[in-house]
Amino acid sequence: MLFKKRAMKGSAFDVAIVGAGPAGLGCALALREIGVESLTILERQSVGASFRSWPEEMRLITPSFHSNPFFATDLNAVSPRTSPGDLFGTEHLSGKQYAAYLGAVVDHYELPVRESNSVIRLQSDFDNFLLETDEGEIRARFVIWATGEFSFPDLEVFPGADLCRVASQVESWRRLEGEEFVVIGGYESGIDAAYHLAGRGSKVKVLSRGKPWKTDDPDPSVALSPFTKERLARITRALSDSIELFGDREVIEVIREEAGYRTLTLDGGSFASSQAPILATGFESGIKRQVASFFEWHDGTPLFSKVDSSTLYPNLFYSGPSLVHRGSKFCFIYKFRARFGVIAREIGTRLGLDTSNLADLERRGFLIEDLDCCVDCKCEIETSTVEEAVP
Ligand SMILES: Cc1cc2nc3c(=O)[nH]c(=O)nc-3n(C[C@H](O)[C@H](O)[C@H](O)COP(=O)(O)OP(=O)(O)OC[C@H]3O[C@@H](n4cnc5c(N)ncnc54)[C@H](O)[C@@H]3O)c2cc1C
Repeated sequence: MLFKKRAMKGSAFDVAIVGAGPAGLGCALALREIGVESLTILERQSVGASFRSWPEEMRLITPSFHSNPFFATDLNAVSPRTSPGDLFGTEHLSGKQYAAYLGAVVDHYELPVRESNSVIRLQSDFDNFLLETDEGEIRARFVIWATGEFSFPDLEVFPGADLCRVASQVESWRRLEGEEFVVIGGYESGIDAAYHLAGRGSKVKVLSRGKPWKTDDPDPSVALSPFTKERLARITRALSDSIELFGDREVIEVIREEAGYRTLTLDGGSFASSQAPILATGFESGIKRQVASFFEWHDGTPLFSKVDSSTLYPNLFYSGPSLVHRGSKFCFIYKFRARFGVIAREIGTRLGLDTSNLADLERRGFLIEDLDCCVDCKCEIETSTVEEAVP
């Protein structure tokens, strides 16, 4: 249910959610399970806006598969009763498909999203929050900040980063001008860029701080996902000199020169390119850019309570990829959705509601409290024992 724009001065809600991506919508659905109706979702652009602006060729790296009835919900679903994989008959959805899935969720469950309505400022008098928005002010007892990271590429990662082209915001790799490229960053976005550019016949040099393509870590937040490893292996087998991977190269600066650009690395390396280097070094958090003073910080990371609220403002919650517990980042949908039920139950309890309806979410992995799941847990069988059988 998308509300028409109207002045909201004086509007008051139990819960205001900022951001209509998977985190904001998933929390809204969990709150609905326990009967929270006084709810508004404020969205600066449109539902699923981050996904809508992905490069045309980019796909979700997390696979979708409709295994929901067997208590193994589609990894990209924001509720146990929906499956993007089933909706599109696709395992790796494009950004536009995933945004359409989120839009379908909003329509089906009649979620109260107000699009084109940016929250400009958050204020608190401890009992209530005041949200200054494009459409006027609204008050809420609880706020869930769910503005993600995608809107905030880190352009201060080294001098000259602002001269680069942000990988995730390229319209289409196919239509990008140029034949030879430098990609800075060897994780998912960087290898994705390299894969698509090589696939259309370009030569690509990937410069990366470590060697993520070699890292043997079971956590896909740390190592490349199987989807990306597989694609990288395929393209380098088919076009052996198309991608050059330079590991352990710390980029320290990008400079503009007459013939184009030069990327400098800490070890004295120097890489010229006629096109702007492609920046795939990550994002900042909406928390840091928008509401930093509402959170306590430790070593550049916001601190969260056991129920994902601010430790300074207990009625301000966070949902999304910047969530960190036990040093582990909940940066994938299947990770942060595990906390939708935790947030809903806490808000429900403080509102005096019966939260027993959340039992189904708990069974289906949308309410995980035992954070032992954050601790490294790899396949018990060593890769070395099967390597010979792998083609
Ligand atoms: C390039 C890339 C690829 C990824 N691939 C995967 C993947 O394959 N699988 C996976 O699980 N995760 C993936 N992720 C992780 C990704 O961060 C999350 O999946 C997801 O986008 C996070 O959801 P979110 O709702 O927190 O943020 P978003 O989807 O970014 O939603 C935040 C929303 O908040 C809105 N907003 C921002 N500021 C305001 C404001 N002031 N007022 C109102 N609205 C505001 C934005 O317009 C946006 O719609 C990827 C991330 C990136 C960057």
